[in-house]
Amino acid sequence: MTDPNKILLDENEMPTQWYNIVPDLPAPPPPPLHPGTHEPATAEDFSALFPQALIAQEMSQDRYIDIPGEVLDVYRLWRPSPLFRAHRLEKLLDTPAKIYYKYEGVSPAGSHKPNTAVPQVWYNAQEGITKLTTETGAGQWGSSLAFACAQFGLESEIWQVAASYRAKPYRRTMMEIWGGKVHPSPSEVTEFGRSLLEQDKDHPGSLGIAISEAVSQAVEDPKTRYALGSVLNHVLMHQTIIGEEALRQLAKVGAVPDVLVGCTGGGSNFGGLAFPFLREKLKGNMDPVIRCVEPTACPTLTKGQYRYDFGDTAGLTPLMKMHTLGASFIPEAIHAGGLRYHGMAPLVSHIYDLGLVEAIAIPQTECFAGALQFAKAEGIVPAPEPTHAIAAAVREALACKETGEEKVILTALCGHGHLDLAAYDKYLSGDMVDLDLSDEVIGAAMQGIPDIGQ
Ligand SMILES: *Cc1c(COP(=O)(O)O)cnc(C)c1O
Repeated sequence: MTDPNKILLDENEMPTQWYNIVPDLPAPPPPPLHPGTHEPATAEDFSALFPQALIAQEMSQDRYIDIPGEVLDVYRLWRPSPLFRAHRLEKLLDTPAKIYYKYEGVSPAGSHKPNTAVPQVWYNAQEGITKLTTETGAGQWGSSLAFACAQFGLESEIWQVAASYRAKPYRRTMMEIWGGKVHPSPSEVTEFGRSLLEQDKDHPGSLGIAISEAVSQAVEDPKTRYALGSVLNHVLMHQTIIGEEALRQLAKVGAVPDVLVGCTGGGSNFGGLAFPFLREKLKGNMDPVIRCVEPTACPTLTKGQYRYDFGDTAGLTPLMKMHTLGASFIPEAIHAGGLRYHGMAPLVSHIYDLGLVEAIAIPQTECFAGALQFAKAEGIVPAPEPTHAIAAAVREALACKETGEEKVILTALCGHGHLDLAAYDKYLSGDMVDLDLSDEVIGAAMQGIPDIGQ
């Protein structure tokens, strides 16, 4: 054994800048558009939603942005995060491949989400904002934002997709422990929520609906802003600390990835891991295949259209060019709640459109089968979302077994599954099924995508 199992960085080796991939791309990403005029959105168009500093980051052409000292101080509660070489999984799979995973489950909330929650709250606090609203699915983002708000003394109000609110009570408790006020979405609090509850009092909700509710409440109060846990440029940029650390950790053992796989819901953990490696690829320093992995139940990249669409269901956000299944698409209640978003980060969509990354979709039973192998070998129980990345890594490792190639595979284990054991229970008892998503269902929501002639 040459590599240690666990490759660590000292605190003083932690990156102090985030990486913005935009200036390094071969073509600029299409800009967000004002929903009324269809002209490129201006900083002003975002100012009721986000603080100036984050709007500037959203539109920035700077390659590197310094991480504020107070944000670094909070990051140090769990960062630098460990990179593991999965020797035991390799042995179980009997593969010559070398599998590395960057583990983000060591954060207080148990996922990568605090990497962006902490700076988002800090920048809002600097501009005198006292409360943030947001949406959450399984509760990973809501709990991360509540944690970050508690660090800097802000209030948080969170709309949780009703199906998850009912099925996953423990993350709601975490949000409440950190001072968050949580509503099931659709809720009685907003006009949009009330209109949906009138149609169906047991409405399961969706991320798009919860975003509409959180946005509508933020714009009503000058001291309140909205925070988004994925999708936007600044969110992906904050997450690049994952990839920057992983680059340094792999360099310590002299490894260079041949394949990088990451699960994509809105694209933030994927972008966070992949963008620093894509920078090195574009510079000619390495040549990894980079692959997005999504659920077959919400196949945004592999079956969606690359079009301008709304980020939310009510149509309150600027239009973003992204792979989308339509803002009214309500995916099946698969266990990977964080991957049930109708759209994809515009930056990830753009690099996919440019052919710089690949995408595949994997059904959830294969994901949980891979997760069980992983948990038995490596010990850590993965969150349902990164089981997609694990299943893709397992596929790749088994292909190496056939060909005898010693590929280096890198992925992010972006969260642990301690609050998702009900999903494992379902898998273990044989009750988990893969639902076939018909082209009809996919086509239906896509008819609602606004036609703006682009
Ligand atoms: C939120 C979440 C995701 C999906 O969001 P991305 O922006 O695609 O990363 C994936 N995994 C975990 C653990 C999450 O909490």
